[in-house]
Amino acid sequence: MQREGIDHENAEMGDILCDFCHKPWTTERHMVEGHRGACVCGDCLTVAYAELVLHKVGSPASPEEKCILCREERDDPHWRSPVFEEALACRRCIKQAAGVLHKDRDIGWTKPTTSEAPDS
Ligand SMILES: [Zn+2]
Ligand SMILES: [Zn+2]
Repeated sequence: MQREGIDHENAEMGDILCDFCHKPWTTERHMVEGHRGACVCGDCLTVAYAELVLHKVGSPASPEEKCILCREERDDPHWRSPVFEEALACRRCIKQAAGVLHKDRDIGWTKPTTSEAPDS
């Protein structure tokens, strides 16, 4: 999401906020952009990925709600931001975003793992 009152002529990194925690994009906090400028930061991705992929928690979205990253109706489990209730992400988007950040070695973000996983 964009910061309120953003100057589009001089938009900066810090004018982009994570839709799930509303913290700004910094060199330390990376963002992955979804549909219509919705963004998720690395911190939120870590939590969402752990819940949806590692621990397999999350519930399908209600009919009135959609993942804000793809705006599609999906049966995937969804992760809801603990801070901003309207921010919902489907498992597919979280996996995709995690893949994007994970691949970029300059960022240094890695997918969370758990020692409980049988294949680790
Ligand atoms: Zn965030
Ligand atoms: Zn989605």
